[in-house]
Amino acid sequence: MNKREFLKTGLAIGTGIFVAPALAGENILHKVETLPYNTGFTQIPLPYDYNALEPYIDALTMEIHYSKHHAGYTANLNKVAPDEGIQNKGIEEIMASVSQYSPAVRNNGGGFYNHNFFWKVLKPGGGNSPKGTFLKKINKTFRSFDDFKVQFSQKALTVFGSGWAWLIEQNGKLLITSTPNQDNPLMDIVTEKGRPLLALDVWEHAYYLKYQNKRADYIKAFWNVIDWEFIESRLERKDSF
Ligand code: MN
Repeated sequence: MNKREFLKTGLAIGTGIFVAPALAGENILHKVETLPYNTGFTQIPLPYDYNALEPYIDALTMEIHYSKHHAGYTANLNKVAPDEGIQNKGIEEIMASVSQYSPAVRNNGGGFYNHNFFWKVLKPGGGNSPKGTFLKKINKTFRSFDDFKVQFSQKALTVFGSGWAWLIEQNGKLLITSTPNQDNPLMDIVTEKGRPLLALDVWEHAYYLKYQNKRADYIKAFWNVIDWEFIESRLERKDSF
């Protein structure tokens, strides 16, 4: 699936029948990017094959991660959605007021959103480094891209137990942070809130088959499969998500 098809699919999932017909046309990509980022309660189609991130992330891990773990969070979120009155809300909106809902929404809504985001962070043949204004911002905030990598890796390494490491934009500034379990920086309950730019899943299910207890090796491999264009596109968004 190429980028254009991927974005179209994302649109169909995210906006449903009410918005999609009005957007059918030449400017579809532009309009997608200016819409509130709404993933709906559907797993995005994985934008690459399970084995596409080899040797950095192995095929079996990807398959189980996507088809069991992420699928499980998604199914559970859909199951509780009617009782919670959230079936017609965007996932980001739900995250932003997650304190008003049950722990099932926090855990499964977080798991649903975080993985949809994570699949887009990853890319076969990714890596290299960010470019342009984003790289300038990285250099300004962390001194250099290498320093940023060290700090982000350290944050990911020191998440105790299960959780996520993030690069977020907070009031126009870049910040490295982490969340426990399936919490994320969109949630009103977390200390460091902001717009997620980069995410790394450090749950053992994300790496244990290949790396066992060596989380540091998994983190090192992660730098080879990052889609910096996607992350840059997140930074350029005008809305709060
Ligand atoms: Mn995971």
